[in-house]
Amino acid sequence: MQRGVAVDGEVEEKLARLVAELKRRGYRVTAQRLAIARIVFENIKSHPSFMEILQAVRSRMPSISPSTIYNNLQLLEQLGFIKSFDVAGETRYDEAKPHLNLVCLDQGRIIDIDDGDLVEEITRRMEERGARVRELVVYAYCGDGGSGPG
Ligand SMILES: [Zn+2]
Repeated sequence: MQRGVAVDGEVEEKLARLVAELKRRGYRVTAQRLAIARIVFENIKSHPSFMEILQAVRSRMPSISPSTIYNNLQLLEQLGFIKSFDVAGETRYDEAKPHLNLVCLDQGRIIDIDDGDLVEEITRRMEERGARVRELVVYAYCGDGGSGPG
């Protein structure tokens, strides 16, 4: 089992919300769109790159084009279901929930820090300076320990 794979109930709940949102906004609800969204939601906790999402989708739908996948990712982001940010020049996709991303420089992995007070404090202080926080990313040396902080 891959690290960071979402539990089934969570994915189903997101898909149900997505169907409702697509209908509400007049988008077509196609089997292909939902299949792509399912794979994205299943893998989103590992902060996948576009290539990783492409591989995951193509393992189940080999003939699908990269632009179709890209367009669906854009739509999911536009509708607020996922976010994206760049790490070392590569776009990584992420859950939309407010949290801080810790990028470990010695391991290259990204760890979610779900510290609501910390996120709220930084967001509030940045807003006082007139900056609207889009994504919180901290680069740090995390050591070579297995579990990481938290
Ligand atoms: Zn994250």
